[in-house]
Amino acid sequence: MSESDEILFQVWGARGSLFAGGADRIAFGGDTTCFGLSAGGGLTIVDAGSGLRAMGEAMAGPPPPVEIDLLLTHLHFDHICGLPFFEPVFSEATVLRVWSAAFERDEDFRAALERAMSPPVFPRFRDWDRVRLCTARAGMPVPLAMGGTATPFALNHPDGAQGWRIDRAGRAIAIAADHEAGDADIDAGIAKAARGVDLLVWDAMYTDEEVAARRGWGHSSWRQGLAVAGAAGAGHLLMTHHDPGRTDAALARMEREARAVHPELTFARAGWRRAI
Ligand SMILES: [Zn+2]
Ligand SMILES: [Zn+2]
Repeated sequence: MSESDEILFQVWGARGSLFAGGADRIAFGGDTTCFGLSAGGGLTIVDAGSGLRAMGEAMAGPPPPVEIDLLLTHLHFDHICGLPFFEPVFSEATVLRVWSAAFERDEDFRAALERAMSPPVFPRFRDWDRVRLCTARAGMPVPLAMGGTATPFALNHPDGAQGWRIDRAGRAIAIAADHEAGDADIDAGIAKAARGVDLLVWDAMYTDEEVAARRGWGHSSWRQGLAVAGAAGAGHLLMTHHDPGRTDAALARMEREARAVHPELTFARAGWRRAI
């Protein structure tokens, strides 16, 4: 494996459920969930939360890759709200393929996404023609424009959600958010799908106490992530989907506590990058 095989992974939004502003929420960022993976001049994005707007802004200089794959975990608003604010969508040169494993047919996917972004909730999005909506199947790899493949796997979340495993030139990243741990079959499926990955991104929205009080809300704790990462034999563990109520100080405290148990772990911050 050479340096050119590396995937450069970057966090553009690590907040869950809702944008979180304020002077005490700067270090970890307020934007909702969005991750960028660059390799070989190509780009793959996982989730289109409000962090996608900042990513588009950062791509304003050199021409962006012509073909971009955007993998959606699900269509809750914190995961799609950045899409109409992603500047490359408005460029004639860009082909944006948006993947979801939640629908049987491309038409159903389009109808659901269009419904989510329709008046009076949102002005009609006019650029659907440049967005190619594609359906994927759990366990079936789809080819990425940047090279390699993305394979969806089931998560436990209200209305359903699918994580993604991205493989390219011997490197692998799995994203398992949004997910509520506790269903033995689904947790085992995640451990299998994430086997041997270099980086596992995990939904750590709640503390263990909060998880107990919010069963059915669809989120997990960092401690539950350790169990699944251990079963998967995952390398580094990235905790994400931070509760909007959590300040920088609170998240830093959680990270210290978690690292004392498992040093190979980071609480995601907007701007965090790592070559995989
Ligand atoms: Zn979410
Ligand atoms: Zn959700």
